Amino acid sequence: MRRVITEKEIKEMLSRGEDPGSIPADALLTPSARDLLSGNGTAGPRAPQSNAAPSEPHIPDYEYRWTPGSDPKSPEEIQRFFNSPEIAQIKKRMCDIGRRIWEKDYVDGNGGNLTVRVGDNLILCTPTLISKGFMKPADICMVDLDGNQLAGTLKRTSEVNTHLGIMKRQPKAKSCVHAHPPHATAFAVASVKPPTCMIPEAEVFLGEIGLAPYETPGTPENARVVGEMGVDHQAIIMENHGVITWGKDIEDAYWKMENTDAYCKTIWVASQLGKGLKTFGPEKLQDLIEIRKSLGMEDRRAELRECELCDNGEFRPGVTCAVPDRIDRHTEGDPEAEDMVRAVTDLIEKELRRNGG
Ligand SMILES: [Zn+2]
Repeated sequence: MRRVITEKEIKEMLSRGEDPGSIPADALLTPSARDLLSGNGTAGPRAPQSNAAPSEPHIPDYEYRWTPGSDPKSPEEIQRFFNSPEIAQIKKRMCDIGRRIWEKDYVDGNGGNLTVRVGDNLILCTPTLISKGFMKPADICMVDLDGNQLAGTLKRTSEVNTHLGIMKRQPKAKSCVHAHPPHATAFAVASVKPPTCMIPEAEVFLGEIGLAPYETPGTPENARVVGEMGVDHQAIIMENHGVITWGKDIEDAYWKMENTDAYCKTIWVASQLGKGLKTFGPEKLQDLIEIRKSLGMEDRRAELRECELCDNGEFRPGVTCAVPDRIDRHTEGDPEAEDMVRAVTDLIEKELRRNGG
C-alpha cells in the first residue's frame, strides 16, 4: 500500500533536519504537504513536486513565503521559529552572501548589511560591527519592521532601518543588500545618476538605478528618502554613501548589487574612451521594459512618454581619454613656440637630407 505523507510529517522531518528527498518514490503527498515541499514555507529551492514522476524542469526559487497573519507571537514561539531548520538555511545563505560581497570588494571593515523578510513583522538581519566576510549563522539577528530586536545574541545593525524603509513600502522587497562597491559608490560621491539605454541586460534585470539624496546613515530621514525611492527602484545609489538593492530573495538582491557595480564600472570605462556614449534609443528600451514586466518585475518607465525614456541630460561623461593634441594645434597663436617648432622641423629635415633620406 502506498504511504500517505501529511504536511505535519514533512514539518517534523524538516525540524529533525531530514532531507525530504528521502520520502519513498511512490508515496502519496497530501495537497498541503505538496505545497510545503514546493516552496510554501520552505526556505530552499523548489523541492520536487513528487517522487512518483520525473520532476518538471523548474527555475530555482529561494523566495521565502509565509501565510499572512501566521507570525509567531510569544517569546517562546519566536525563539523556536528563529532556531528552526528553515530559518537556519536562510541564516547560512546570508553568511554566504556576506562572504561574496566581501570577496568582491563591495565592503570593507564592518561595512554593509543584509536583511531577509521571513514574516509579516519578522526580518532577519546582520549584526553591527562585524566583517560580512566572516559571519556565522549564530551571528544573525531578528527584528520587527520598526527595528526592535526580537532574537539573536549580537546587536542588530543600525542601518537596518533603511532596509525596513524599503520593505514597509514595497512588499515585493523580501531581501535587501547594502554595500559600498567602489564603482557605484564613486557615482554616489560624484552625485551622478548612471545613464540609461546603454546595456540591455541592465535595463531588464536592474531597471532604472535611483539616486537618493544624502542623509545620515541609519537615521529615519535616510530610511524615508531611500524607502520612497525603493518603491520604483530595485537599485538605489545613496549619495556620498553606497548602494542598497532589493529582490525577492537574498540571491536576487545580491545580483542587483553585482549588476549595479558592473554597470557603473562599464559606464566609467566607456566614458574614458574619447567618444560619446551611444544609446540604443527609447523604442528599443520599450521592448526591454516589456521583457522586464513579463519576468514579473514592474517598471515605472512603462508609463513614460518615449521622449522621456532615454533622457540622460544630467549625465556628465567626466574625463575623456587623455590623448595629447598635435603639437601644431598647441602652438597656434604663440609666435615663440611656432619658431621653436620650425627650428626643430628644419633640424630634422637637414639631418634627413644629410643621411640621404
Ligand atoms: Zn553603509
